[in-house]
Amino acid sequence: MTLGESIPSVARIGQGRLSGRVWPAGAVTGDNRDLVVGGVSLTRIAATFGTPSGVLDEADFRARCLRYRRMLPEMEISYAGKALLTRAVASWCAQEGLSLGLGSAAELAVARSVNFPAERVTLHGDRKTAEDLKAASDYRVGRIVLDSFDEIEQVASIAPDGQPVLIRVDPAADPHTAAETARRVLARARSGGPRLAGLHCHLGSQVVRVAAYEEAARRMLGLLARIRDEHGVTLGLLNLGGGHAVPYRHEDPEFDLGGFAGRVRAALGYECDRHRLPHPRVAVEPGRALVARAGVTLYRVGVVKRDTGGRTFVVVDGGMSDSARPVLRTAALIGRHAGPVVREVTVVGRRGDTEDVLAEVTLPADVRAGDLVAMACTGAYHQPSNDNLVGSPPLIAVREGAAFSLL
Ligand SMILES: *Cc1c(COP(=O)(O)O)cnc(C)c1O
Repeated sequence: MTLGESIPSVARIGQGRLSGRVWPAGAVTGDNRDLVVGGVSLTRIAATFGTPSGVLDEADFRARCLRYRRMLPEMEISYAGKALLTRAVASWCAQEGLSLGLGSAAELAVARSVNFPAERVTLHGDRKTAEDLKAASDYRVGRIVLDSFDEIEQVASIAPDGQPVLIRVDPAADPHTAAETARRVLARARSGGPRLAGLHCHLGSQVVRVAAYEEAARRMLGLLARIRDEHGVTLGLLNLGGGHAVPYRHEDPEFDLGGFAGRVRAALGYECDRHRLPHPRVAVEPGRALVARAGVTLYRVGVVKRDTGGRTFVVVDGGMSDSARPVLRTAALIGRHAGPVVREVTVVGRRGDTEDVLAEVTLPADVRAGDLVAMACTGAYHQPSNDNLVGSPPLIAVREGAAFSLL
């Protein structure tokens, strides 16, 4: 742990680099206790765009894409757009050679508006509407993931014949449903319907245990073998989903991507040999792991309150919508000298009640109204809520000293 990590106010550490474990990879402390991301002063962003403001470090996002491509060179890296999708983010994915996993007609429209290559797009969703399927079919997306028996006919009626589909599998469940879905898709294809291209699974979110993916890969290979045995069809694509965990505090565990690569490769190699199957192409779909740490959100402190139990509540001018939101987070007080004493505080949104807890963080004990607080790791699943009709905070991308609005 560096000094910058141990002290929750960048006010005290002078010039220095912060850790990319939680903060954007290029974050440094600047003059006047500032925090500088992508070469741009966050106090200047707050002054220019107001608070709350989301800041997204383009270089951090691209670097994490590159790392996935380098560590998993034989795999397809598909960014899960539901973590955060804007036209700029979709363009970055296109340029970094990533694919996109999307979940609605609206998301497809964003990708299409930047000419994201259709063959690298996968449509997901357990409640796909006819509009979603129509948008996917007009765009000619590379894959549609089937989530139920009913979707076989829906896709057959809307998408062109031969539309590649994957079957969504719960690797912890009885494989019978997946095998039965495969049987029905293959049967439907005989009268001109979607083409079965592979299997998909998604284990959940904030998964730390690499072995969970290894087990899932083994079960999925078993299913591929069963489908080959029962129908004589060898499927070529295995999508292992996302869920790779991200640390929200310096002490949180980090997903071991190298371990993931090694164990998944070994498991697939072993199972392919055992079942005499060719190696399927493997795809992974990280969302949070690619974008969470590129994001920093700036809040202005409105009120500091203490309850009778001695807890300190810092009421800020924004809310948060992260559904799986980790409450233990990292924040820093920026833009002024703060005292050396720190305390654990509860940061709450502008409603100011216990329903609107944004985070438990450590801040300088003299935190007061008017202070600027930078919350780390807010790039994923942090789309603003519309409580009190406050409206959406701006989202500002920063790159090499320049800032531009994304929304
Ligand atoms: C949400 C989701 C992802 C991404 O999950 P992360 O936890 O952000 O990595 C990937 N695939 C599917 C199908 C999803 O629903």
